[in-house]
Amino acid sequence: MSIATIKPQAELPQVESRHADARRYPQGVAYMDGQYLPMSEAKISVLDWGFLHSDATYDTVHVWDGRFFRLDLHMDRFFKGMERLRMKLPYSRGEIEAVLSNCVALSGHKSAYVEMICTRGGSPTFSRDPRESQNRFIAFSVPFGSVANKEQLERGLHVAVSDSVRISPKSVDPTIKNYHWLDLVKGLFDAYDSGAETALILDTNGNVAEGPGFNVFTVKDGKLKTPGFGVLPGITRQSVFDLCGEVGLSAEAADLPREELGNADEVFITSTAGGIMPVTRVDGKPIADGKVGAITRQIKDLYWEKHSDPAWSTAVSYP
Ligand code: PLP
Repeated sequence: MSIATIKPQAELPQVESRHADARRYPQGVAYMDGQYLPMSEAKISVLDWGFLHSDATYDTVHVWDGRFFRLDLHMDRFFKGMERLRMKLPYSRGEIEAVLSNCVALSGHKSAYVEMICTRGGSPTFSRDPRESQNRFIAFSVPFGSVANKEQLERGLHVAVSDSVRISPKSVDPTIKNYHWLDLVKGLFDAYDSGAETALILDTNGNVAEGPGFNVFTVKDGKLKTPGFGVLPGITRQSVFDLCGEVGLSAEAADLPREELGNADEVFITSTAGGIMPVTRVDGKPIADGKVGAITRQIKDLYWEKHSDPAWSTAVSYP
């Protein structure tokens, strides 16, 4: 009997097209296994270790108004991650940059969320030895997305701190951008259950760490602080440090006890997916007067101004 002759069981719901409909994919272009493809056709084997074991590293850079923002820093982090995970690709840094640019140009997006991924892949002999795997490269460009929507960006996000603890840096190096998100997703569900819109979770010492796809900053007496331990060193976080240096604001990476968050004058989160995003409520209580703070606004404005500065951005070559 061939697979094709096996009929779907009548009693099972007819869901065979649930993930196959091209209209359910965002408009965009992917590159994998040597080809550019529409998003709906970019698929990997279920046996890829990236899928089976979260054995992968990735990076996400955004394109704003036709320009990559801080592509060099994202490439540095991606290559460093691959090296630490002992992964190798048959592409140079320049070749990967060209693929990313082509994905954006082919998708036609002027503002895009662009991801590059290296998975462990699999071994042709199904060996369980990761040294025998052929690492896989995937890239894609889809429309720009943000952690916070328009309304949340204007009035500030409502965040809850979950008791969920970020996986120990001794187990998974947080400086390698990774897909170990079960702790972050648990935090999100905890946050939704408490009526908040997103979550922050703790580090292994009980201090505030980071959230699903973002770092966090507090402002107290004009000084900025962001957790220094057990977090991804975000490129947006780095941009905040660089901007603070330019305008003479003090910013440090140090332990951030939970109480300091609620007592801050201002709180904001940072991510490639949305930039600098204000937070005005933590655990149901307003931060200061519950309005978006002046320093948050200043940093946010400077951040977006830098998107047209050639020292911080690179043009995509559209056909
Ligand atoms: N922390 C985590 C766990 C993330 O996944 C991300 C981004 O996806 C960030 C922080 C923010 O990093 P970046 O500013 O480089 O986008």
